[in-house]
Amino acid sequence: MTERGKRFNIARIDRLTVSSILERVQIADDPVDSAAARMGFDQLYSLLNAKELQFVGRILAIDPKNHGVATSHLGIMPPPADLVPIRGQRYLVNAQEGQRETPIETQYLPERTHRAYLAMNEHIKRDLDRGLVVESGYRSPAFQLVTLLNYFQRFDFDIDRTFKLVAAVGHSEHGFPERQAIDLAPKTGVSEGGVDESFALTDEYLWLLQNASRYGFVLSYPKGNPDGITFEPWHWSHRK
Ligand SMILES: [Zn+2]
Repeated sequence: MTERGKRFNIARIDRLTVSSILERVQIADDPVDSAAARMGFDQLYSLLNAKELQFVGRILAIDPKNHGVATSHLGIMPPPADLVPIRGQRYLVNAQEGQRETPIETQYLPERTHRAYLAMNEHIKRDLDRGLVVESGYRSPAFQLVTLLNYFQRFDFDIDRTFKLVAAVGHSEHGFPERQAIDLAPKTGVSEGGVDESFALTDEYLWLLQNASRYGFVLSYPKGNPDGITFEPWHWSHRK
């Protein structure tokens, strides 16, 4: 149940709870071959103590409308059975000391979307002589919650700022296979925080604008989108 009209606040004491939840998830995960993105709520809950569980309940009750975004609730479904792992991806990260090749944690996509992505990537490689990588694929609703907590921390607990970039639990196309989202990134260089708005200046992005729809992919959050979400040139969702 959402708390209509009520804004969510994180007290100083809650910040420690956020850290401890993130730490528990990290410890339980395999750092090389991460499976966190496909975790169910039962798995997440089995890692947490009573206080952390209570805090998670408060996160699930947040209504993002009270934080300036108008995304719709897509639903909370268990992870699909046909997730295909994408292992061993790498891309270049532009760090202060220069570019460094960086591995991307194992990502997952439902079979149908994975097939469409592979076909599209073959096509862009033929046209531009370079392909794309999946920076973020399927994220279960439980992992979406973990992702939100990560960004709360990264954005110094600025809740409104977080919701402009990370969808509330049950609102994310990353956890909704019927409209499966992929965050795409160029192999040739992203900022230290990952793919960002500068992706809109790349040839890969222009190619996607012209060709992605042939493979069923749609840009979900163009500039000035009615949902109030940041312009996300990297976020493409696979529609039927
Ligand atoms: Zn995304």
